[in-house]
Amino acid sequence: MHCFKHQEQHAIGICANCAKAVCEQCCREDARKIACSDTCVQELFVEQQTTDGLRGSLGIGIKPPMPPSVSTYFLFGMILLLTGVYMSFQRGGFDILTFAIAAAFFVMSGMSYRQYRSRCLSC
Ligand SMILES: [Zn+2]
Ligand SMILES: [Zn+2]
Repeated sequence: MHCFKHQEQHAIGICANCAKAVCEQCCREDARKIACSDTCVQELFVEQQTTDGLRGSLGIGIKPPMPPSVSTYFLFGMILLLTGVYMSFQRGGFDILTFAIAAAFFVMSGMSYRQYRSRCLSC
């Protein structure tokens, strides 16, 4: 696939507005999506505004839904934490391994959440 304007350049993407293949040189960096020209940037911007406005009026959050991994990891962490507490009582000692795995799940949950937050800021 080659750029619509520069036949010798390999395209890095397709304009989100008019579906032309664009090279690095032609790709507009200020666009949230790939666009081939300022006109397309403008049109995409207007489209985005409309979509945002529509979503807002419909009461749908503009933020993307939280990835299921966040709650899944958190749930696993909670289960392991409770298991750890239970095992500690049963054995009369401190079940460090279960607590360590539980902590690891909480960390993974936190990382997924951070990833979700950063993705949201860029969109
Ligand atoms: Zn275009
Ligand atoms: Zn080009």
